[in-house]
Amino acid sequence: MSRFGEILIRWYQENKRDLPWRNTKDPYKIWISEIILQQTRVVQGYDYYCRFIKRFPDVFALAEADEDEVMKYWQGLGYYSRARNLHEAARSIAGRGIFPNTYEEVRKLKGVGDYTAAAICSFAYDMPYAVVDGNVYRVLSRWMGVEEPIDTVRGKKLFAALADELLERSAPALYNQAIMDFGAIQCVPSSPSCLFCPLSDSCVALQKGLVDALPMKQHKTKVTNRYFIYFYVRAGEYTFLHKRESGDIWHNLYEFPLVEADREMAEEEVCRLPEYKKLFEGCEIQATRMVAKQVKHVLSHRVIYADCYEVVIAEKEMPKGAFQKVLRDDLHKFAVPRLISRFFSLLLRPK
Ligand code: SF4
Repeated sequence: MSRFGEILIRWYQENKRDLPWRNTKDPYKIWISEIILQQTRVVQGYDYYCRFIKRFPDVFALAEADEDEVMKYWQGLGYYSRARNLHEAARSIAGRGIFPNTYEEVRKLKGVGDYTAAAICSFAYDMPYAVVDGNVYRVLSRWMGVEEPIDTVRGKKLFAALADELLERSAPALYNQAIMDFGAIQCVPSSPSCLFCPLSDSCVALQKGLVDALPMKQHKTKVTNRYFIYFYVRAGEYTFLHKRESGDIWHNLYEFPLVEADREMAEEEVCRLPEYKKLFEGCEIQATRMVAKQVKHVLSHRVIYADCYEVVIAEKEMPKGAFQKVLRDDLHKFAVPRLISRFFSLLLRPK
């Protein structure tokens, strides 16, 4: 065993977190945990994982479920295409009757990239595939002092080769878990405690004063602002929801009737928008009240600023568009983005 692998594994055995997906060799459970943990912190993902596995204990249960229910179990985790891909892949696995057990077949599953395939194959089957996630990039770039950016084709190739070279082939599952946890707990993005690090005497970044600079990135993510104006329309005991379609964020999640503007707007301006007039065409508006103004919701490439108005119309009327009329008491049954669930808590809290 290499000195690097030995130190990491020893560190892991002393510091590892007791996580349910670490105590199993079931590829289905490992797959679910890995997909949940993409873009999600362990603390947040833990409860989601437990609830998800309780409801969908195996790939057949997930395959048989209705997509709306799967989305409901995913609600709040974000990056909803992960849930749709999981569901689609579960159906294809169930059709074959067995979870794939080669790297190539696992890699072909919808939503599974190089990292996830390596994680499933090493954790479930102890196959010698090195995982390369954000934690691994950080540990390797710092410990080896690699200044190559991690977000270029060249950088990705280089780090994949380094990770493969360092992989402890006699214990791939243990080594992969060790390096990932080391990055998540010890060699953290800002202010790692290098003083108490078992790799400090061989860490190049520490010796060269590069800890804060590594890993390097070449591209900055371009962030755009969007301005959403939602209408919680009340018609007696009913309200209205729209199911979002593909080609934009939150595909297949529900939301209130929406008008998108190109900037922040005052209430009087909103009423003059053609989209607003079209939405309420033929309706007699009995009352309007602002519920929330400029609620900021940050996604990976976008910042959404959302307003929400409560609009009361007559009981038999409905806004124009592809809306579902739902009992207000049933709103909690629908899978909605976190932003909308924030509005639910403002609108539906006991007065
Ligand atoms: S010494 Fe610091 S930068 Fe180097 S591996 Fe340890 S924690 Fe990371």
